[in-house]
Amino acid sequence: MFSAILIDKSEAGQQVKLAQLDDAQLPEGDVTIDVEYSTLNYKDGLAITGRSPVVRKFPMVPGIDLAGTVRNSQHPDWKAGDKVVLNGWGVGETHWGGLAQQARLKGDWLVPLPKAFTSRQAMAIGTAGYTASLCVEALLGHGVRPDQGEVLVTGASGGVGSVAIALLKKAGFSITASSGKAAEADYLKQLGAAAVIDRAELAQAGKPLQKERWAAVVDSVGSHTLANACAQTRYGGAVAACGLAQGMDFPASVAPFILRGVTLCGIDSVMAPKTRRLAAWDRLARDLDGAAIDVIAKEIGLGEAIAAAADLMAGKVRGRIVVDVNR
Ligand code: NDP
Repeated sequence: MFSAILIDKSEAGQQVKLAQLDDAQLPEGDVTIDVEYSTLNYKDGLAITGRSPVVRKFPMVPGIDLAGTVRNSQHPDWKAGDKVVLNGWGVGETHWGGLAQQARLKGDWLVPLPKAFTSRQAMAIGTAGYTASLCVEALLGHGVRPDQGEVLVTGASGGVGSVAIALLKKAGFSITASSGKAAEADYLKQLGAAAVIDRAELAQAGKPLQKERWAAVVDSVGSHTLANACAQTRYGGAVAACGLAQGMDFPASVAPFILRGVTLCGIDSVMAPKTRRLAAWDRLARDLDGAAIDVIAKEIGLGEAIAAAADLMAGKVRGRIVVDVNR
């Protein structure tokens, strides 16, 4: 038997509880993992609260991330005792996920736990941090350099935003953090932001072309914020778009793209190929130190994950929540 968060659905609606499950109920897969830590991402918040139709099959164990030790494997790349990390691939959406003491899934989906990190630290980073790293990889791949000007990070106090600030700082950039939490200005500066602006400045409809301010942008917010960020990006700059915390819409014009040569880089973490995942985790292992992770992360037990998901959706959470599934 093992403990897991379980989401089920009936005519009365969605029910979520901490459940005791039998190993025999685990889904198909060629690797079984003793999970040590999981985490709460924005998507897990949507799944647990039922605010968006993230879960595609019921009953479902949520948790798009996990870190743990291989218990047994029929996959050639993995053997019992290996330390592994899982991000995405539909886990926690269509396949039972990481908010559980055990998981069974495809070995092709796993990456090795970077030597620089404990399984707890890897989950403090989680999909949010790995996505931030994909964003930074995309901007650097575009050729953005620190001498070209400031980089804007939106949704700055969230998981993606917090890690993006720390990684961009390490890469030598000057960062402006856009946040709705005035009280978190010190936290954002501690992570490496040179300046903090009120997210209200970017939240309303704006002109198609505005004063050029940013060499590049990491945007986890979408909607008017993304449109304004594009309209304020300097000639030849790049915007990495990965999120929709303000909205899924993109009420923008093509002006920044056709008149300033701005590039919009779409970032998807879920189906990203393994080479890109490994590059993103290499950057995290190289550039994110333990002290930054400790600043970003707060730990909870498995039973606290349901309440914490509601807080996450209410925008009350700063940084990252790491879940010890064994307490
Ligand atoms: P968090 O909940 O940790 O952070 C989101 C942040 O966005 C909040 O902390 C807040 O920051 C800001 N925010 C919240 N509501 C609004 C609003 N109405 N308007 C403007 N800003 C708002 O989430 P994550 O960092 O984990 O994820 C951020 C986004 O990225 C989500 O939309 C998520 O779905 C997406 N995502 C996408 C991935 C991909 O593969 N493309 C992978 C991972 C995440 P502040 O208070 O500082 O303004």
